[in-house]
Amino acid sequence: MNIAIIGGGISGLTCAFWLKKYGHQVKIFEKEKSVGGWVKSKQTANGSIMDLAANGWLDNEPAVHRLIDALNAHQEHIPVSDPQSTRWIVFQDQMVPAPLSPSMLLRTPLLSFWSKLRLLCEPFIFSKSPPNENLSEFVERRLGPGVVKGLLTPMVAGIYAAHPSELDVRACFSKLVDWEDQYRSLLVALHSPKRPKSKPPVLHSFRGGAGAICEMLAQEISEENIVFEKIESLEKKKSTWVLHSDLQNDFECDHVVLACPAYVQSKLLQNIDKETALLLDNILYSDVAVAISEYTQESFPNRNKGFGALCAQDQELYGVLGILFSSDIFPSRTLGQQNRLLTRAILGGTQYPDVLDWSEQDIKERVSQAHQIIFGQQKHQVSEVYVFKHKNAIPLYAPGHNELQEKIRSQIYKKHDALSLLGNHLFGVGVKDCIRNGEQCAELINNGQILSKPA
Ligand SMILES: Cc1cc2nc3c(=O)[nH]c(=O)nc-3n(C[C@H](O)[C@H](O)[C@H](O)COP(=O)(O)OP(=O)(O)OC[C@H]3O[C@@H](n4cnc5c(N)ncnc54)[C@H](O)[C@@H]3O)c2cc1C
Repeated sequence: MNIAIIGGGISGLTCAFWLKKYGHQVKIFEKEKSVGGWVKSKQTANGSIMDLAANGWLDNEPAVHRLIDALNAHQEHIPVSDPQSTRWIVFQDQMVPAPLSPSMLLRTPLLSFWSKLRLLCEPFIFSKSPPNENLSEFVERRLGPGVVKGLLTPMVAGIYAAHPSELDVRACFSKLVDWEDQYRSLLVALHSPKRPKSKPPVLHSFRGGAGAICEMLAQEISEENIVFEKIESLEKKKSTWVLHSDLQNDFECDHVVLACPAYVQSKLLQNIDKETALLLDNILYSDVAVAISEYTQESFPNRNKGFGALCAQDQELYGVLGILFSSDIFPSRTLGQQNRLLTRAILGGTQYPDVLDWSEQDIKERVSQAHQIIFGQQKHQVSEVYVFKHKNAIPLYAPGHNELQEKIRSQIYKKHDALSLLGNHLFGVGVKDCIRNGEQCAELINNGQILSKPA
C-alpha cells in the first residue's frame, strides 16, 4: 500500500518506521526543514547538547523497547544518571525536596498539619468520581485542597503546563480513577498486596539528545521518503487521496495518516468531513518558552543538585514553571565536561498565556532571577542562554477529553476507510504515548483497519 503521513514528529516517524517494516511504501510530509517536531536537539556554542522541547521518555511502555530493539539502539538509549535524585519544589523562596515517600510526606513543609491529617482520612472518603471530573476536583475530594495546592499543581504544571482544574482526571491520570474504582481508596490501593506492583518508571533518552531518536528513525525511513513540504489541503478521489502542498505539488496515495496537531487536522478535513473537523477544533493548546542556560559549575558553588525544581502554587518564579538540571540528569549532555552546568527552564503555559509576547531579553532575565532562587547567589556571568518560543506546544486534555476523543474516533470509524488520525492531542502527550500510538496505527493499517473501534 502507498501511505502518506502528514507530520514528521515522533508519532508520524514511528508509524512510518513500522509501516516500512511491514513492507508498505511510505512518504512523510513535514513542513519544517527537519523532522522531530517537539523532539529535537541542537548544540550550544560549546558543543553541549540541548533539547528544544522534550528531553526524554519514561521506560514503562513496551512499545518504546520494541522500537529501541528494532532500531538496534541500545547503546544510545540511556537512563538518567540517578533515578532517585531529588526533585525539588520552590516554596516560599526555599528549595524543598518533593516528598516521594510516606515519611517525607509527613515531614514536608509543603503541607500544613491539617492538610496532612486530611490526607490520612482518604480511606474514609466513600464518594466516586463523577463523569468529566477535573483533576483538581478529584484530588481535592480524595486527599484535600492542601495536596492540590502543595503537590499536585507544581507537578502538573511540569507535565501539562496547565492547572489541575483545566485537565480531565480520566484523560491524564486514569490510574487514579481505576484505583478508586477497584480499591475504594488511593491509600488502600498503594498498600494493597493485590495490586500488581511495577518498578517506578525511569526517564530515558538518547546519548546524543532526545532528538537523536528522530534522526535515527528518519535515517531508517530513508531520505527519499521524506518530503519537506507543507500540506495545505486534501482531496478524496474515488479510491485515492491527493495531497496538495504549499509548493503547488500534488501527491497521490491510498491511505493518509494525519500526524500533525489537532488544528491542522481540522483544517485539512474541513472540506472532507466537517463534523470531525469541528470536533478537532475543540482541542486547545498552551504556549510555552524553553530557555536553555549554560553556566560553569563555579557559577553556583553551593547549589543543590538533583533532577530539577518545580514552582509551588503562589510562589513567584518570574513565569518559570520549572527548571530541569539537564547536566545532572544526563551528564552526556555536556559531553562529560564536569565544569559545565546545563539547565532547561520552561515558562508560560496556561498560567502565563502571554509568554510568546515576552521579548527574548525579558525571558533571559526571568530565567536568571529564577536560577538565583533555585541555586543561590550567582558568582559568575552566565555564558549563554538560548530561548525557543513554542506556539501551540502542549494540547490541553480538558474535562470531557475522553468523550471528545471517542466522538472523533467514532466519526472516523464510520466515515473513512483510508484515513488515520495520530498525534499527541488524542491518546497521550508523552513521547512514550506517541511511540505506542504510532506503532499501533501502523499495525492497524497493515491489518486493513483504521483507528480501533470506539469503546
Ligand atoms: C516544551 C515541551 C517539553 C516536553 N517535554 C516532554 C518530555 O520531557 N517527555 C515527554 O514524554 N514528552 C514531552 N513533551 C511532549 C512531547 O514532546 C510531544 O507530545 C510529542 O513530541 C508530540 O509528538 P507528535 O509527533 O504527536 O507531534 P509534533 O511533535 O507536534 O509533530 C507534528 C509535526 O507535524 C508537522 N506539521 C504540522 N502541520 C503540517 C503540515 N500542514 N504539513 C506537514 N507537516 C506539518 C509539524 O511541523 C511537526 O513536525 C514536551 C512537549 C513540549 C512542547
